[in-house]
Amino acid sequence: KESLDKGLEKTKESFFTKLGRTVVGKSQVDEDVLDELEEVLISSDLGVGTTVKIIDRIEQRVARDKYLGAQELDKILKEEIAGLLSENNTEDLKDFTIPEGTKPYILLVVGVNGVGKTTTIGKLAAQYKNKGKKVILGAADTFRAAAVEQLNMWGERVGVPVVSHGMNTDPASVAFDAAKKGVEENADIVIIDTAGRLHTKVNLMNELTKIKRVIQKFVPEAPHEVLLVLDGSTGQNALIQAREFTKATDVTAMAITKLDGTAKGGVVIGISDEFKIPVKYIGVGEKVEDLQVFNKMEFVDSLFK
Ligand code: GDP
Repeated sequence: KESLDKGLEKTKESFFTKLGRTVVGKSQVDEDVLDELEEVLISSDLGVGTTVKIIDRIEQRVARDKYLGAQELDKILKEEIAGLLSENNTEDLKDFTIPEGTKPYILLVVGVNGVGKTTTIGKLAAQYKNKGKKVILGAADTFRAAAVEQLNMWGERVGVPVVSHGMNTDPASVAFDAAKKGVEENADIVIIDTAGRLHTKVNLMNELTKIKRVIQKFVPEAPHEVLLVLDGSTGQNALIQAREFTKATDVTAMAITKLDGTAKGGVVIGISDEFKIPVKYIGVGEKVEDLQVFNKMEFVDSLFK
């Protein structure tokens, strides 16, 4: 909780400064306040669609209650954002657990370079390892030497084996060996890093299809999860990437990183609202504990505290 509060500091500061400006000298929420609020929400990276929904809800409330005190705008906004997110029928994770009857649980991780994919995998590996789970990593992002190296470093740091064939090797072959090792060694979870070259959507799809096909030789129901990692500090870019990836492949969960050190944390609200795919993790710092299980209401609470 503390690291969530701390991680959201910049987002909060920027948001409440702007919000304060929209209601200064105003006694009630009127058209002017709503127009300005719309700009605040958009410039806070909630995205146009989500902003419009929130403004509509507040407008309806004004119409119904006749009078809404401007100085209460933060409270009203918190209620409406919470209401909106609770209508999104995705469920929040409670903690870092692996669903039962999925041994080994196979997690494919996708996302473009630099978003924090390798770091997220390393942190996930550490969280599961700390819970006494047997973890295996697969370095199938073989197009970048750095990705393979970094995953190996995380493996050493956390103390989990990494299946790696080096750079420029066939990603599907790495995935095949990682899944095989997972089954043979009775691992709890196999986390496979895959390349995310979004500019070649067809390639990405073909590659993931191939990876899925080979791991299904060992675990027919795999992958249990396809996790898309997004960089929250890129704001609207993260939202755009989410749209493109979810079109290109069947993403089942999302992780939004680097929320510390950015004022663009509002994008988490936009993404949670727009997609029927749960945001499962958020990254609020460099440490292992800074990868947190995402909880919609905790996030809203922390933002409005
Ligand atoms: P990849 O190219 O997607 O694998 O990205 P990396 O995992 O190498 O991450 C890129 C940079 O972002 C690294 O310097 C990470 O330490 C940093 N990073 C990743 N997640 C977070 C986060 O939640 N907060 C902060 N502050 N930095 C992060």
